[in-house]
Parts: sequence; C-alpha cells; structure tokens
Amino acid sequence: MIDTDAVPQVRRVVTAIPGPKSAEVLKRRTEATSGGLGMAFPVIVEKAHDAIILDIDGNQIIDLGAGIGVTNVGNSAPRVVERVIAQVQQFTHTNFTTAPYENYIEVCEWLNKNTPGKFAKKSVLVNSGAEAVENAIKIARHFTKRQAIVVFEHAYHGRTNLTMALTAKNMPYKEGFGPFANEVYRVPMPYSYRYEGNLAKITEESLEHIIHKIEKEIGAKNVAAILIEPIQGEGGFIVPPKGFLPGLQKFANENHVLFIADEVQSGFARTGNLFACEDENVVPDMVITAKGIGGGLPLAAVTGRADVMDSSHVGGLGGTYGGNPLACAAALGVFETIEEEKLVDRARLIGGILTARLTEMKNKYSVIGEVRGRGAMQAIELVKAGSKEPNPEAMAKVIKHCQQNGVLILTAGTYGNVIRFLPPLVITEALLNDALDVLDAGFAAL
Ligand SMILES: *Cc1c(COP(=O)(O)O)cnc(C)c1O
Repeated sequence: MIDTDAVPQVRRVVTAIPGPKSAEVLKRRTEATSGGLGMAFPVIVEKAHDAIILDIDGNQIIDLGAGIGVTNVGNSAPRVVERVIAQVQQFTHTNFTTAPYENYIEVCEWLNKNTPGKFAKKSVLVNSGAEAVENAIKIARHFTKRQAIVVFEHAYHGRTNLTMALTAKNMPYKEGFGPFANEVYRVPMPYSYRYEGNLAKITEESLEHIIHKIEKEIGAKNVAAILIEPIQGEGGFIVPPKGFLPGLQKFANENHVLFIADEVQSGFARTGNLFACEDENVVPDMVITAKGIGGGLPLAAVTGRADVMDSSHVGGLGGTYGGNPLACAAALGVFETIEEEKLVDRARLIGGILTARLTEMKNKYSVIGEVRGRGAMQAIELVKAGSKEPNPEAMAKVIKHCQQNGVLILTAGTYGNVIRFLPPLVITEALLNDALDVLDAGFAAL
C-alpha cells in the first residue's frame, strides 16, 4: 500500500523550484529524453497522493492539473491501488483477443450502463484517447459506409496521424508533421467570448452556418460522423452555448450522421455530471473516454449503440495491450471511488468554489477577460486590459508565480492565454483555497 502519511495534504515549499536534487535529474532529462517533449512543472516527482505531489527535494506541491484530468479520483486512490496490486499478482497480460478475462468485460458493462442513453450498447477498450478517437472514426466509417468527418475549430483529439488531422491547432501539435489524413472537414465553434455575430442568437446563427457548410460543401449524405468535445479541452475550455449540442445532435440524427462525443477530458464526474453531455441530455451514438477512466493507468474506450459497435468484421478492432488487465482493475477502482465518494457532487462543490473565487479575481484584475467552464473543469482567459487581445505574457508570469509557490496549474487555449483548473475531485477545500490564494497573489504581483 502507498504510505499516505508520507504525503500530507498541505502545501510546503522548502527549496527553489526546481530544487537542487530535481535540477540534477532534470539535466539528465535534457540529455536522455527527446527535445520534442514539453514540461509544465520542472520538478522530479517522488510520490503523489490525492492532490499533493511530493518532489525529491521535499516540496509538497498542490496539484490543480490531475495529470491533465486523469487522476480525478486522486493520485494513488486507495481502491485503485488495491485492485491493481491484487491483479498484478494474478496475471499481467494475455491479450483480450487471445484469451479473454473478466475485468475487461466488467469495465465495458459499467460503461454501457453509465454512458448517456438507455439503448443497448457495447464497448471496445484501447490504450489512449487518440487510439479511442481513431477507433470511433473507423467504426463510424464502416457502419455508415461514408467517409467525411466533421470537426470543430479549437478542437483537440490527439497526436496520432488521424487525430492530428482532427485537431485544430497547428503549433505545437501539427507543425511539420504532415501530410494529414483526408476527408476531415472543420466548421466553426461557437466561442461566445470571441463571437462576432449577434451574441443573443449565437446558437441559431452557428447551427445555421454549420449546417449550411455541411450541406453545400460536403453533402450531408457523405458525412459519417460529427465529432465534438462537449466542453473543449486543449482549445481553452470553450463551453458551447445552450441548445448548440442538442441542435447538432438533431441534425445528425435526421441525416443518419453519427454523433460522437469526445469525453476524454470532460468525462468521469469532472463537470458535475458523470459525462458533460448529460448537462443538456445529449445522447451520442458513440462516446469516447480515456484520461479519467484509469486513475492514471493507460486505458481508453469507445462505447456506443450496439448495432454501430457490432458493424465491423471480427478482427477489425483490437490491439496488443488494449484493455490490459491492470488498467481494467484500475478502472473498476475508479468507478467504485466515484460512486462511494460521491465525486459527481464533489465536482459541483469544487465548481462552486472555483466560480466564486475566479469571478472575484476577475472583478479585481482587468487581465482576466472571462471565467468559464462547468464543475471542476473551469478556466480563465487572459487579455490585455480593456481589450480582448490575448495576453500570454501575463499568463506566463502568473504561472511562474504559482510554480515558485508550489502550485501546479496547467494552461490551454488556441491563443496560449488560458489558465485551466482540473483539480483532483478529492482535493480538500482548504487545499483548493490555499492554491487559489497563491493564484490571487500572482495576479496582484503583475
Ligand atoms: C487528451 C485528449 C485526447 C487524447 O488522449 P491521449 O490519451 O493523450 O491520446 C483526445 N481528446 C481529448 C478531448 C483530450 O483531452
């Protein structure tokens, strides 16, 4: 078992960040690891539990990133750790398509039951969000016998070749990595903060424009699927206006286009629902999950209508490690933790604190242009005072201040000017407020 006493849930900064021991190892990082890898927080991790990361210099860092929305149940959550230890002593791998095992099936049963929609569903498990997106597209094309995929501005779907094509932002995700897959069509995302039409009519205007583009430029009968993040992640936590997702779903249904929700970042209790789609009772034909599903072990899934999921030939789906038994054991620990710790409710409570405190900061600091998001998935967009011009410089300064004071916060956004909050849902209120005090002081120091 993890020694939880060794990681008390309080912030403690005892060296500069990085401290001397981390700095030594980071030199080896530079020498040994690809220069293509970024680094958001320059320390070397020794242990982590719930919402505190302990580095090798003894600093206790508040984690407001949850490993990019992964450890929603907390780092090394007890039910996850226990189940993984038990599983590793039984067997580590057989390959589900060679000799199947029960926990893969249990994970699929849970997903089939708990993703939106009351109809018969089936699932397939893979290793990463990008691989799940790729599989959803394969399945959609095979089922519909159509090829076109509609995606959105500011979208992020992964870093493999097909998912780079589906992702909007060039730098750093796509620059120099082409050629990209074809039959991918991008349409505008209603980004209310930067919307230039009639804001009161954003939903109607956006739907009309998108549907017009689909009908005139692609042909609705050529579209296999519309793929969308119900709240965009890397794009800057852009929340579509009310009515937009239901309107899109209606168009999709009427035109036999599959509606696919990429819930990789927004899923698993993050937004105050198990899945973000539930907020407006949107029922996708397929739901893509990853990140929060495995509590830190690599796992992802596609869950969808049984007729859709069954459409491809035997052997058309699979992979060596997909639904590895250790990752499935972890997922069962995640599901159990979400239910027993009532993490959907906790996400709402955290959301209330974030909204209140971030709005208070927005009223004090003119560089904060907007506070947005839902539940424990919220962000602030930074601008030059008195305008909407992106302000990545202010963001860099505030993030640096948080780093030096032991608070890990992630950034996002097409314009590199969004600070996003993805705390583990088990974070204590005291710890969350302490981190927000540090952030507030960072703005005051600008
Ligand atoms: C992270 C992410 C992905 C890609 O997941 P990986 O596990 O990194 O491949 C896809 N879609 C969304 C919305 C994501 O946030």
